[in-house]
Amino acid sequence: YEEKYQEHWMKIETALENEQLDEFREQFLVIHPYDQAMFFIEQSKENRLIIYSYLSPEEIAEIMINIELEDTKQYFIEMDPRFAAMVFSDMPADDSVDILNEMNKEEVASFLTIMDKEAADEIKQLLHYEEKTAGSIMTTEYVAVFKAQTAEQAMKHLKKEAPGAETIYYLYVLNDDKQLVGVLSLRDLIIANESTMIEEIMSEKIVAVSVGKDQEEVAQMFRDYDFLALPVVDFQNHLLGIITVDDILDVMEEEASEDYSKLAAISDKDQPSDT
Ligand code: ATP
Ligand code: MG
Repeated sequence: YEEKYQEHWMKIETALENEQLDEFREQFLVIHPYDQAMFFIEQSKENRLIIYSYLSPEEIAEIMINIELEDTKQYFIEMDPRFAAMVFSDMPADDSVDILNEMNKEEVASFLTIMDKEAADEIKQLLHYEEKTAGSIMTTEYVAVFKAQTAEQAMKHLKKEAPGAETIYYLYVLNDDKQLVGVLSLRDLIIANESTMIEEIMSEKIVAVSVGKDQEEVAQMFRDYDFLALPVVDFQNHLLGIITVDDILDVMEEEASEDYSKLAAISDKDQPSDT
């Protein structure tokens, strides 16, 4: 058995090296997910990235379930976050939670935001995922444009998107991977020549909020930078949404009344009691 097994393993390796997708799937998927996992953990990062692209999220989920908990985190971090989120939603929620518990707040919030809602809700309940982070107050109705567009093209696009957008005052510039690479204001766009490329008028000095950031810290950023909206990104700088100043006003109000209650509680204690 051992020898036959070695032979099969070699076949899988060869298929991977030669980038034979169909052959790889045929040889790999017939072995038990545990054995798949044993093969997987022996691979270089380069090969692992190929494997992610050759298998479905569901198939990767099977492998992840069979890997030691402490080791799985690194694999999820190296996957495309959107793919990783799909893998999480294809795993039993409690297994996902165990892995997410190994991660920092930022990473957890990122994955939960991208995940399909049903899976995310289930996981959040188990995680006791705290509300009051940037991710919980953002909206996804922003206007995105591309570097290689002209001002005229961007304006056309803006006209189409404007009715559904939370604000049109800022336009966010994305690369092909949806990473935030620039920002410009509506004013910048209007005053630009029609043929000017977005790349030329956008600012690359971007102030962005991590999706897991506490809402009070987000409020502080609005006070510090005076923008009408701030973009929200995951830990790989993918644009997830925006927070507008009107949403943050509610947070400030909430905060102020909390502080007031605390203050009231303290001064109560200072009062000599009547009883
Ligand atoms: P100005 O203050 O110069 O009159 P404005 O009123 O049109 O400009 P502001 O809201 O003050 O617009 O924004 C000024 C500039 O800040 C814009 O040109 C825009 O490119 C840039 N900007 C907007 N959002 C961000 C952000 N999140 N990070 C960095 N820069 C940003
Ligand atoms: Mg201004």
